[in-house]
Amino acid sequence: MAKVIVKDLHKSYGDNEVLKGLNLEVEDNEVVCMIGPSGSGKSTFLRCLNDLEVPTQGQIVISGYDLSDKGTNINLVRENIGMVFQHFNLFPHLSVMQNITLAPVQLKKESKETADTTAHELLKTVGLADKADAMPNSLSGGQQQRVAIARALAMKPKIMLFDEPTSALDPEMVGDVLDVMKKLAAGGMTMIVVTHEMGFAKEVADRVVFMADGLIQESGKPDDVFDHPKSPRLQDFLNKVI
Ligand code: ADP
Ligand code: MG
Repeated sequence: MAKVIVKDLHKSYGDNEVLKGLNLEVEDNEVVCMIGPSGSGKSTFLRCLNDLEVPTQGQIVISGYDLSDKGTNINLVRENIGMVFQHFNLFPHLSVMQNITLAPVQLKKESKETADTTAHELLKTVGLADKADAMPNSLSGGQQQRVAIARALAMKPKIMLFDEPTSALDPEMVGDVLDVMKKLAAGGMTMIVVTHEMGFAKEVADRVVFMADGLIQESGKPDDVFDHPKSPRLQDFLNKVI
């Protein structure tokens, strides 16, 4: 069974129908990159996957758990989904280490020792082994985003959702963050990545999904989507961003 199954997903805010019937299946270990113009519903879609938004209609099944099923323990599902946003939202009054260990200790009841050990490992993975005791505001944006990724990974999620993780960064910071994401992908993490980094999508995605007007308009292998776009809508979008 696919890890993420989305069927006929609709989401409206008042009269504004933002998602108009999305269908998507993401397999284990698959990396799906979502591209599309601003306002097309990409963030809303990710927020529905994480139950931060409740769909108006449709079905979302994650690792066999139906999010709309009253019997589903939504907190348990959420623990398995890591989310990284454009704005890193680290807790400013907590050190890097405390940011990373907070949820494992409080939600997963890990011992502080175990959580600390994991956090040190993760900081190595994201290239910040020497920043354990730093405060977030002493770090660059790129470093903060890598801490945010480590914080998400500390919960040992089975799926990682990224919502434009590099869009708020200075250009020279983008590469380090993308490198961490590439490493994650190479390690077999199931990932859904909303991004404007077409180079990353081309290189790392197993599948690229083009969203516009609340619908998936086209999807396929990166080469097909980028080099042989079918719909005029996608051709137009690519002409503008590449
Ligand atoms: P994208 O991430 O592709 O730029 P979004 O999902 O952020 O698109 O937004 C899609 C549409 O949904 C926009 O028109 C936006 O104004 C609207 N929208 C998003 N979140 C809300 C909300 N919480 N309340 C009302 N409208 C919203
Ligand atoms: Mg968005």
